[in-house]
Amino acid sequence: MNKINCNVIGDLLPLYVDGAVSEDTKKLVEEHLAECAECKKAAEDMEKELVLPVHETVAAAESSFLQKMKKTWAKRKIRTAVISVVGTAVVILGSYMALTFPQWIIPYESEDFSVAVEDGLVCVYYTGEGGINCSYGYDGEDEFFLYFTRNPWSAYVEPLLERGEQKEPYRYQIDSVERISKVYYGEFSKGIDVLLYGKEAEMAAQTELIWTRDEVMP
Ligand SMILES: [Zn+2]
Repeated sequence: MNKINCNVIGDLLPLYVDGAVSEDTKKLVEEHLAECAECKKAAEDMEKELVLPVHETVAAAESSFLQKMKKTWAKRKIRTAVISVVGTAVVILGSYMALTFPQWIIPYESEDFSVAVEDGLVCVYYTGEGGINCSYGYDGEDEFFLYFTRNPWSAYVEPLLERGEQKEPYRYQIDSVERISKVYYGEFSKGIDVLLYGKEAEMAAQTELIWTRDEVMP
């Protein structure tokens, strides 16, 4: 085989392998490759080692880059979502606690309060506005202490939500009239609540006697 021919073909091979030659050149190269095992092998090696690996590498790099980007975006999205959910929850919880945590005692006013015996049970009624909570202390015998509180939520938000609705008076059911002989109202020392044994006199001094059994059952 003509060595000059081989050199010329060798120069053309990179272009041929890239498909960047004219039809005439392509034909010329293929005619030579059909006859020259050495150049054919060179062409095959070039196709394997240069062309394909480069394409594969680029493709692999592109896809791994894209996947990395996708993962990064997904992570960012998740992080942003988590931060906004947690942030919103904290704000809502904080607002709710600020509105419900403070407990304001409702002072005893006889037009809003009444005590009645109903079905043998001593009950305290409150007809004022808003939702209320009850704190109580009971000596386990015959004296019952209680006071009602409201928080900013029940004082300001609930009346807006329930505007126009006919509201039942708040009813707190104490116990059987046979067991209860005195009901006191007032904000007795905090922390005593149910555990008031032996502190009845102290609590009675801080509170107002609002009901005695003797009045209704002499
Ligand atoms: Zn050749």
